[in-house]
Amino acid sequence: MEKPNDLGTSRLSRREVIQAGAGALLGSAAILAGAGEMARLSAQGPAAVQATPPPATDPKYPMPPAWNRELRQLAPNVYAYLQGGGPGVSAAGVSNPGMIAGSDYLLAIDAAQGPIPANAFIAASKQATGKDFGRLVNTHHHGDHVNGNQFFTHAEILSHPYCRDECVKAAATTPKMWDKVPGVAEGTEQRKLVPPSVTFKDDLTYFIGGTEVQFKFAGPAHTWGDMMAYLPQYKILFAGDVAFFWVAPYANNSYITKWIEVCDKIAGWDVDVIVPGHGPIGGKKELAEMANYFRVLGVEARKRYDAKMSPGAAAAEIRLGRFDNWIGPERLIMDVVRWYEEWDSTLTPDYNAMAVREATIEYNQVKAGQKKVSEMIPLSRMEALADPC
Ligand SMILES: [Zn+2]
Repeated sequence: MEKPNDLGTSRLSRREVIQAGAGALLGSAAILAGAGEMARLSAQGPAAVQATPPPATDPKYPMPPAWNRELRQLAPNVYAYLQGGGPGVSAAGVSNPGMIAGSDYLLAIDAAQGPIPANAFIAASKQATGKDFGRLVNTHHHGDHVNGNQFFTHAEILSHPYCRDECVKAAATTPKMWDKVPGVAEGTEQRKLVPPSVTFKDDLTYFIGGTEVQFKFAGPAHTWGDMMAYLPQYKILFAGDVAFFWVAPYANNSYITKWIEVCDKIAGWDVDVIVPGHGPIGGKKELAEMANYFRVLGVEARKRYDAKMSPGAAAAEIRLGRFDNWIGPERLIMDVVRWYEEWDSTLTPDYNAMAVREATIEYNQVKAGQKKVSEMIPLSRMEALADPC
C-alpha cells in the first residue's frame, strides 16, 4: 500500500519538489538577509549543482585528513581507486571503486559516478595491469556507483536484484546526454544507464588469478541491496557504502538500525583493511566510528522525537561533537528523517523526497531565525544529494 508521503511525492516531479522548496528557502532567507545575500541565493538557482562550501568547523574536534586521488595497490593484484578528498574539497559524492586483476581480465567493484572518474579509473587500471575489465559488480544502485557502467563496454555487470530493479527504473528517465559537471562530465558525452545483467542474492565467490573474492550481501543497511567484497587471504573488505570514513554517511535509502548491526558484525570478521565507498582507506576502528555517528545522532534525535519536535527542527538543533567536522554535514538532515521514519514505522526502501524537502525548509527557517545564514542549506544542494541513479 502506498503511504501518504509516497502519494505526495508521486504528484510532483523531483524538480518541482525542489523548486517549491527553493522558493520557501528564499522566503525564509528574506526574513533576515539583506539584498546582497538574497541576490546571492537567487543567483544560485534551484537546479544547479552547488559546490559544497567549507563546513563550519569546530577546532575542538578532529579535522578529516586530506587524501589523494590515486590507484593504490593493497595486495598482489588488488587495488583501490581512491577519489581525492579532504576538508574543503567537494568530493563527498564521488565513490571509491576497487579492482582485482586476474590472469586475463579485471574485475571492477563499482563503476564511479560519470565519464571523467569512470574513464580515469579504467585508464589507470589498464596502465597498471595491461588488461581490460571483464566483470563489474555494483555494490548498490546509487548513481556514484552505477552511472559509470556504460563505460565498461565489454564487462558483464552483476548486482543484487534490488540494485538491478532500481537501475532499470532509473534508466527509463536517465537523460540522453551528460550535464557538464566539473570533475564528473564535460557535457558532451552521450549518457545511458546500463543496469546489471546478472543478479545474485547471497554469497558469490570469484577465484581470479590467485585471489578469492567473496561477495557478501549486507542489506538492508545503506540500501536494500548492498553487496560487499571480502578478500580473506589479505583481510581486505571493499565495503561499498556500508562504510563512510570522515564523510557524513548518506542515509536516504537506509535502514540505520540494521546498518549499525552490519558494522558490529564486521567487527567480528578477520579484516584489517576496509575500503569505504567514501573517504580514505581505514579499518574496523573507522567503521566503528561511523556506526557511532549514527548512535550519537540517534540518541540526540530520539530525545527530540519524544518531545514531538519535527525532524527539521531537531536537525537544526543537534550538534554531533567529534563528528561535526565530517565532510557533508548537511546529510544530518536526511539521516534524522530516516531515524524518525524508523520510529514511526513508516520506513520504506525508497527515498522520501517530500520529507527531506520539508525538513530542509524547516531547518533553514530555524537557522534564519537564529541569523545563521552561513549554516543554511540551499535545496539545490539537497537535490544534488537526492539523485541516487
Ligand atoms: Zn550510496
